Amino acid sequence: MSRKAEDPSDEQSLPSEPKHRFVPLSLFASPSPPQPAHDWDAVLRCHNCGGHFTIRKLPLKRIALVPQIAPCPYCAARASAPAKKLHRIVDLRLAKD
Ligand SMILES: [Zn+2]
Repeated sequence: MSRKAEDPSDEQSLPSEPKHRFVPLSLFASPSPPQPAHDWDAVLRCHNCGGHFTIRKLPLKRIALVPQIAPCPYCAARASAPAKKLHRIVDLRLAKD
């Protein structure tokens, strides 16, 4: 079921491109997740005020990203990765309709 990201025909149109480009693991771009997409509910704990809040219907590939981008609904604190101030995921469960 795994789909190759590179079309072999690209080698002819782009002869200068290396055959195998190094693609770093990224939280921001995952072209084709191998597993079926389930949505998750993540309970986060604010790094600033300690308040718990839930992010609902979260695709799997965004779970690691959300604590870095979601603002706290209580104190509006955002995460700061360089300062290592991230909301902590305290619970994670499959979302239900
Ligand atoms: Zn907060």
